[in-house]
Amino acid sequence: MLSRAAALEEIAGRRFEVVVIGGGITGAGVALDAASRGYSVALLERGDYAVGTSSRSSKMVHGGLRYLQNLDLGLVREALVERQLMVQLAPHLVYPTPFLVPSFAEERRDRKFGLGLNMYDVMATTRVGRGRREMRSSKDEDEGFYWSPDRHRTIDRDEVLELVPSLEPRDPSDAYLFYDCQTDDVRLVLTILGEAERFGAVMLNGAEVTEILARDGRAAGVAAVEAESGERFEVEAGNVVNATGVWADRVGPEVAEEEDVPRISPSRGTHVLLDRDDLSTGSAACIIPAGEGRHIFALPWYGRTLIGTTDNDYEGDIDHPHPGEAEVEYLLNAVNAFFGVSLGASDLVGAFAGVRPLISSGDPKKSVDISRRAELYETSSGMVTITGGKLTTWRRMAKQTVDRLVEREGREAPSHTAEIPLGMEARPEDLEAPEGVGEEALAQLAFRYGHAARNVLRLAREDPKLAQPIVPGRPDLLAEAAIAARLEQARCVADVLLRRTRLGLLAAPRLRGADAARPVAEVLGAELGWSRRQVKREAEAWPAAVAEAGVDPAAAAGIASRLPG
Ligand SMILES: Cc1cc2nc3c(=O)[nH]c(=O)nc-3n(C[C@H](O)[C@H](O)[C@H](O)COP(=O)(O)OP(=O)(O)OC[C@H]3O[C@@H](n4cnc5c(N)ncnc54)[C@H](O)[C@@H]3O)c2cc1C
Repeated sequence: MLSRAAALEEIAGRRFEVVVIGGGITGAGVALDAASRGYSVALLERGDYAVGTSSRSSKMVHGGLRYLQNLDLGLVREALVERQLMVQLAPHLVYPTPFLVPSFAEERRDRKFGLGLNMYDVMATTRVGRGRREMRSSKDEDEGFYWSPDRHRTIDRDEVLELVPSLEPRDPSDAYLFYDCQTDDVRLVLTILGEAERFGAVMLNGAEVTEILARDGRAAGVAAVEAESGERFEVEAGNVVNATGVWADRVGPEVAEEEDVPRISPSRGTHVLLDRDDLSTGSAACIIPAGEGRHIFALPWYGRTLIGTTDNDYEGDIDHPHPGEAEVEYLLNAVNAFFGVSLGASDLVGAFAGVRPLISSGDPKKSVDISRRAELYETSSGMVTITGGKLTTWRRMAKQTVDRLVEREGREAPSHTAEIPLGMEARPEDLEAPEGVGEEALAQLAFRYGHAARNVLRLAREDPKLAQPIVPGRPDLLAEAAIAARLEQARCVADVLLRRTRLGLLAAPRLRGADAARPVAEVLGAELGWSRRQVKREAEAWPAAVAEAGVDPAAAAGIASRLPG
């Protein structure tokens, strides 16, 4: 990615064919789709890339088994097709995980799951009329481009325990086994942005759009404020796309009639993370009953166990949603009952909450019933708003948006995103480790950056200090902080610890206090030309960033002082 200074220079005062507001997965997707169809594109993000809902998802690229309950078949089918495409386009970053629905001696298997999984299997068939068997023998498969999940099946007790040994005390009788996919949501956004830049899009974070510029009643660009200088600049654009997720109904009141704009009805989802020594699901995920017919999941993620999620109407601060205390308790209760353990808030290594941009139908129903579908709105000014949807369906949302622009201009410009690889795959064994960098770090770098992991390793080789872990015992390297500043527009410690790496979520107790943030602040300072005083200030800003993000629930509950740091 261009540096911020260079991006600002390219964007401010210039004219583009498309300006995208919002640097979450949706905005990134629109930038890639439009740029790859030949549009000149600028993207402006108010905070950091993916700082909104796109860093706070459950990190699944999935059809969404639970939407089958609402018979939202179209949505599930669409998402399953996208899931398959993502594994193909970003094999290093989107990977299949076995999911188990275990049953125990005293219970009968939940047949509703069996029925749902049959439908899931059918809908995961790649193309209408083309079965899995046929695809398996296809050329794509031979060349290794094609991933298709096996059909779900029932596995016996031994296989359950082989996959999830921690279920032994519960004496499982058998389990349904099916597949869904996982990713790192932020890295997916950054990877898509990287591809968009290859097609000529220019992007800038720390640039809040404050006004939609209008000419003769038509949206003709935006005015934005650059965070560090506080300076206002304008960007002219033939098309303005509002991809601000849960903030979509707050952008551009000057050009939108009230009835033109989608009404967002936010719903909060809370997640917690546990050390695998406290609770491990092996390399599989478990679906866990959580009362009243609801289910949660426990997933392996970056060597931790990720538990989620909840789905509650939310009226609080959408800029900084915190894990709800009652929701943390609800998740822990379900997990404790399921695995026969007794874990509490002090055992958490991290937590986070996100707010879903659900479109309200005006019907005061619970959020679970509100549509997960994406909605495209065009105001009379011509500004196009795209919101709702899922992480998984970003490509379809982007295509739908740019199709609209193409249609109204009468261009001939089909979407290419189904064929554009996202980053370049690398296997850990393709990477050469400098002194002191272990296999775990290589595997993580290959997952996170693909081929671009070589940039990180080159820095680590040139400067052995950068080959050190950011947090002792975790595989993330200080060189990643340097790369984040140099190539990914990271501006502060939180950009590195919460998003470029996910350490703030994975190792919150180890990152309490300014001292823990100091090594990252120093590396950023060397890259960004900070004075000693600024390095100190930036490290000291980290605890406030943690409090604002709500990622250390034990600290928030005031019990941190009694916990190992
Ligand atoms: C708890 C939870 C779990 C989820 N789990 C999954 C899952 O497992 N799988 C899945 O497929 N989906 C999942 N989702 C849904 C998915 O995360 C979201 O649909 C998706 O991330 C929304 O992306 P977005 O780009 O539309 O919005 P966001 O990521 O919120 O991006 C909008 C961006 O716009 C920026 N912005 C706002 N105002 C301005 C302005 N004035 N100027 C410039 N920028 C601005 C914001 O800073 C933000 O970065 C989950 C959602 C939640 C809440």
